[in-house]
Amino acid sequence: MSIALGCIADDFTGASDLAAILARSGHKVGLRIGVPSAKDDSEPAPFEVIALKCRTEPVDDAIKATRKAADWLMARGAGQLYWKYCSTFDSTPDGNIGPVSEALMAQLGTSQTIYCPAFPENGRSIYMGNLFVGDVPLDESPMRHHPLTPMRDANLMRLLAPQVQGKVGHIAWPDIAKGGAHIAGQLRGLAYNGIQHIVPDAISQADLAAICEAVQDFKLITGGSALALDLPRLLAAKGRVAPTGTDIIAPATARGNIVLSGSCSAMTRAQVADYSAHAAALRLDPPALADGPDALARARQWLATQDPDAPKIIYATAEPADVTAAQQKLGREKAGQVVEDALAALASDAFDHGIRRFVVAGGETSGAVTQALATDRLSVGREIAPGVPWCFAERNGDTFAITLKSGNFGKEDFFTRALKMLG
Ligand code: ADP
Repeated sequence: MSIALGCIADDFTGASDLAAILARSGHKVGLRIGVPSAKDDSEPAPFEVIALKCRTEPVDDAIKATRKAADWLMARGAGQLYWKYCSTFDSTPDGNIGPVSEALMAQLGTSQTIYCPAFPENGRSIYMGNLFVGDVPLDESPMRHHPLTPMRDANLMRLLAPQVQGKVGHIAWPDIAKGGAHIAGQLRGLAYNGIQHIVPDAISQADLAAICEAVQDFKLITGGSALALDLPRLLAAKGRVAPTGTDIIAPATARGNIVLSGSCSAMTRAQVADYSAHAAALRLDPPALADGPDALARARQWLATQDPDAPKIIYATAEPADVTAAQQKLGREKAGQVVEDALAALASDAFDHGIRRFVVAGGETSGAVTQALATDRLSVGREIAPGVPWCFAERNGDTFAITLKSGNFGKEDFFTRALKMLG
């Protein structure tokens, strides 16, 4: 089987978000952690998503990594690529959204693409080129204070322009509302005028469907995950994938469950509080972890005495004031690193104790845990919440289930709901 649509995501939870949206079609979706080796001869799925960790890498490194991912996908038949980034357009004037797009355009030999981070189901919409998070412009949302990619403007054309060499254009909502054929005409007009990078407005999933129809033959599509929802259907209509997907069947996973949370986002804090009310709970303290091996040894000991099947959570999730205090004491990077290292070690211990169901909260945390479980290939199952699927992987011949939840996704009862779904 060859790849019909090759996808590259700039972080792990973003990749699983896109994989979940594509898997709604019932088609098989493969999720790879990092670029697979050139020798990887595993059968590709019609939709393959490669998760990179290149959102805030130096531009040249990000371009190198995405080119390598594109090579792997194209060598397995992908003539069309999807570059997935966050629905809050997380980037800086240097990149990496624009520079990676231009590199991929050159690789694919194409001269126009679109930029559409809208995800209406999760409250991200674009009107007159301005990105909204819920009912506020991006630059008035908490993203204004993001430590790595503070978003201080909501206008996507202004955000994109310094990131690219080519010209940036816009298709306004009144034109989007006229449907796919009209949008395709607008894109041709812009191409005729040498405008390569187009931001289309989108305030509803119907708008995204119309845009998707217009760009279905583009060699490169870029955006959030929601834009991809209709692609499987459109590719099936062209005969590039089977007419309909078969319903995804979750493989049976043995017993045992654990929630590991290193996210301090507002929604994760509510989710940790909700779950801790009826689960055995252990809180990790970054300064104690940094102090020496004792804190981690105690956590390992705690985990070893837990019933694998009983609900349990280990978290470093903390209120902003506590995070600031830990960061002041240890430095931002070290505070994050000790937590990620501890959760990674505990995930590996949990597997050794027979636990086969992992709920992980946090983008960086997800990266650390999947790496600890030595997982480089996941198959994608049903969504627990929009953009958060159960995934399945093998380790030492045993199947395990894992879900990677980015900070603000899911509702308060997400952890309970996730584990309930596996029965
Ligand atoms: P999110 O998806 O919510 O952004 P991430 O896992 O990507 O979550 O990022 C959270 C970061 O904060 C991680 O690097 C994690 O190790 C770090 N962290 C977690 N708990 C604390 C804490 N109590 N103090 C300082 N840093 C923390």
